[in-house]
Formats: sequence, C-alpha cells, structure tokens
Amino acid sequence: MSTEGATYDVLDPATEEVVRTVPQCGVEETDAAIQRAAAAQVGWAALAPADRGRLLLRLADVVDAHLEELAALEVRGAGHTIGNARWEARNVRDVLTYYAAAPERLFGRQIPVAGGVDVTFKEPLGVVGVIVPWNFPMPIAAWGFAPALAAGNAVVLKPAELTPLTAVRIGELALEAGLPEGLLAVLPGRGSVVGQRFVTHPLVRKICFTGSTQVGQQIMRGAADQVKRVTLELGGKSANIVFADADIERAAARAPSAVFDNAGQDCCARSRILVQRSVHDRFLELLEQAVQRVRVVNPAEEDADMGPLISAGQRSTVRSFVEDAEAPVDVLFRGTAPSGRGFWYPPTVVRPTSVQDRVWREEVFGPVVAVLPFDDEADAIAKANDTSYGLSGSIWTRDVGRALRVSRGVQAGNLSVNSNSSVRYATPFGGFKQSGLGRELGPDALDAFTEVKNVFLATQE
Ligand code: NDP
Repeated sequence: MSTEGATYDVLDPATEEVVRTVPQCGVEETDAAIQRAAAAQVGWAALAPADRGRLLLRLADVVDAHLEELAALEVRGAGHTIGNARWEARNVRDVLTYYAAAPERLFGRQIPVAGGVDVTFKEPLGVVGVIVPWNFPMPIAAWGFAPALAAGNAVVLKPAELTPLTAVRIGELALEAGLPEGLLAVLPGRGSVVGQRFVTHPLVRKICFTGSTQVGQQIMRGAADQVKRVTLELGGKSANIVFADADIERAAARAPSAVFDNAGQDCCARSRILVQRSVHDRFLELLEQAVQRVRVVNPAEEDADMGPLISAGQRSTVRSFVEDAEAPVDVLFRGTAPSGRGFWYPPTVVRPTSVQDRVWREEVFGPVVAVLPFDDEADAIAKANDTSYGLSGSIWTRDVGRALRVSRGVQAGNLSVNSNSSVRYATPFGGFKQSGLGRELGPDALDAFTEVKNVFLATQE
C-alpha cells in the first residue's frame, strides 16, 4: 500500500486549529529510508567509539539550544503544558548526554576457559525501528533512538500520526549536529503503513514500541516471523497505595499530579488510589481540595497544571468510562476545565461499585481516577496486583520495613515510596505482566540494542 502524496493535519488540541500539514510516508519511502539507514549504520558502527559519543553530545547541545522551540511546538501540536514540554525537551538532551558516554563503555567480558582466551563483544543489531505514541512524543522517541545510536545502530523512527512535529524537528537537528545522513530517519505516517513495514522489513532487526497493549501484541506476533527483537512499553493501571501511617496531607496533595499530569495520558498514571480504611474519609477531603487547585487552562500559560486531551476520539473514550449509560460510575468530585473549542475534560474522581468495574480495571488514559479503601498490607498488595498490568505505582508510609515489603510485593517495574516519580534517565524503566517486555533507560537499555558475541581464541597449538 502506498500513501504517496498523503498528508495529515496536525491539530492544536487546545483550539482544534490546524498547526501544520505534514506529508505522510508510504511503503516505498519507508523502504528507501530503511535501505539508507542500513548503509549509514555500517560507517557509524565503524567510527571510533569516542567519535560516536562526541556526535551524540553535539546533538545534545543542539537540542539544548532549541529547548524553547521544541517545547513551544509540543504545546501547540500535542496540548502539553509549557512546564511539561520544557521538561520533555530537556529530557531528550539529558538522555542523549547520558548515552553519549556509552560507546566507550560497552564492555564485554573475558571468561576463563581451557586452551585459549574467551571474550565477548556487544555488537549492534543493524537498523532499529522505533514506534512512538502521541502521549510523550519527545522523551519516548529519545529513549529509543539515543541508546540505539550509542550502541552503533541506525534508527528509523515513526512518530504517532497525531504528534509528529517535534520528532521531525529533532531529525533535522540531528543533521545540523553532524550525524550522518540517513542514520536517524524520522518517518511520519500511519501505524498500519510505516509501523507495519518496520515489522515486516527484513533489514529492521528490532522494534522498540510504546503504545497500546493491543498493538504491542500485534507487533510481537508479526515480529515472530523473522524472530525480530522487540522491546514493548505498553499500558498501565498503576496503584497509589496510601497507608494510615503516611503523611496523609502530602500524599493527598501529590495524588492529583500523579494521575492528571499530561491530562492522565500517561502509562505510569496512578489511576487507582487505594487508601487504608481508617484514613480514607480524611484523605478524600484533602484530595478534593487538591483537585480543586488543579489549573486546567490554556497549556501555554506558565502556571497551567493540565491541558486538553489529545483528540476528540480520546475524549469520547475517556467519557465512556464515566458517563456510560449502561454502567454509570459514582463521581465523587470534579475539578474544572474550559468549555468551548478544544478537547477538554475536567479532572474527575470516581468511586467504583466493585473491583470488577471497567474504570477500575481498564486503562482510561485520561484525567479520571478511581478510589477504593483497603484493610491491611495483604489486602493492599492483593488489590494492587489484581490487574493484568504492572508498570508503576506508589507506596505512602512512614514505616521503612513496610515500604520495602510492599515494594517487593507489588508486581510492577517502577515503584516509588513517598513519591510519585517513575522516570529517571539513569534508571531502568519498563513493565511487568502485560505492561511490557524489556527495559528502557539506564544501563539496561544498551542490552536491548546489542547482541552478545562470543569469540574464543586458541592459545595452544
Ligand atoms: P496505538 O498503540 O495504536 O499507537 C501507538 C503507536 O503505534 C503509534 O505510532 C501508532 O501509529 C502505531 N501503530 C498503530 N498500529 C500499528 C501497527 N499495526 N503496526 C505498527 N505500528 C502501529 O495507541 P493509540 O494511539 O490508539 O492509543 C490507544 C490507547 O493505547 C490509549 O488510550 C492508551 O490506553 C494506550 N496507549 C498507551 C501508551 C503508553 O504509553 N503505554 C501510549 C499510547 C497509547 P498511529 O499514530 O499512526 O496510529
């Protein structure tokens, strides 16, 4: 299938105005870019490790010089608050800086064996396909391309159809920084065309995918044909567990941003709050005050806490969880949101009728949080784990032993104690169960972009 000549109108989610019309790649352009990437990869992998690192650092510097431009583009093209967008652009710079040190540190091992010397090498895979969702267009792109390039691979990157602008700009900045032509190719287009071609093209040796569990499963099935490597970063339904011995004021004050940040369109969103029964009512009082303070306004305003949802489609999906005529949920309280044009939805706190409710079990990917009480530590862990997901979560307690016991008990890849922060570029990030496969960021990501080669050198005649 070719989409030659096709274009896509990127909308500003806050106003519904067209920000820019972007040409879409078809299969032929994708194939050509993959061929060019494969050719560029050979020279890239042959560069001295320090030179590869230097070029990545130069790209980090160029990104740093364009932070405001990139952030402003994300505000308009994705509806992110200006504060978040600046953090996201800085994250691209920091991830590049972190992995710029990697080419000179891709250590193999020397393993004692009889009759010779045994050494291992971490070899690049070749061309890596990075498929990016619309919720965090800049960081998720960088979490794929920075370690992939550092390990000596070339990258073909498909941004989400809804949010291609910053990825396209970063592709231009890469050329400005001196990265070889074709090494990092940004290919806007449809998932079913460009993304699917990454899966079927034999020169793409690995897919690094972030998005829905359903598409992730599809990619994993498709990758099986060529035993293609995959890293999958999928959905979540993370629990925010508040024990009675916690600093309740702090836990309640921080709970809104843990789920409403990026309008809830975050795979790490703590969209289930579990509160120990003895402090449940007090916590809800404090939570209501905190939700009323969330400023849902034009995302370009400096003090905006939350912007609009990404699209009309996403808003109707979110609405269906709350306003389902067949099974309406009990809305405990709501924040405010602008009316009129734009894909707005107010921060909403609900009480499920049971743990079987759709709003308790499925990823909403919007500003909706469900709250339930629990009785004791065992009940909290059981409720937190009663999900097919396992991405992140928070534990609020002053008891260090409990913090560690519950952290070990919750089946999720990224937990925080007395904090809701999940992502640091220097530490591994990824999911248990159906939240994903493999780890991004930190030292672990390099393993996902290399193959171990074992070489034995005989020393005996
Ligand atoms: P998708 O999983 O459909 O999209 C993610 C990326 O995959 C996009 O770049 C998309 O392209 C691409 N894609 C879609 N179909 C294919 C395919 N067959 N082969 C290869 N690539 C493909 O997510 P949605 O945008 O539809 O969001 C739906 C839901 O998924 C959300 O409501 C949320 O629950 C979850 N989600 C989770 C994310 C996370 O961070 N874990 C991120 C995004 C969504 P295109 O944009 O052209 O469709």
